Amino acid sequence: MAKDAREIVALECESCKSRNYHTEKRVKGQDVVKRLEFLKYCKKCKKRTAHKESK
Ligand SMILES: [Zn+2]
Repeated sequence: MAKDAREIVALECESCKSRNYHTEKRVKGQDVVKRLEFLKYCKKCKKRTAHKESK
């Protein structure tokens, strides 16, 4: 695990499984989120879809 307790995660479209976004995620501390989920625009689907973190 990285010393700064953060990691880069890919955000994957729920519909087409494209990895459209990357984000930093805290893995320690008070703001820890178990599973990230964002509503983002997907170029492939041509609409806003749910994007979830993948590893
Ligand atoms: Zn998509």
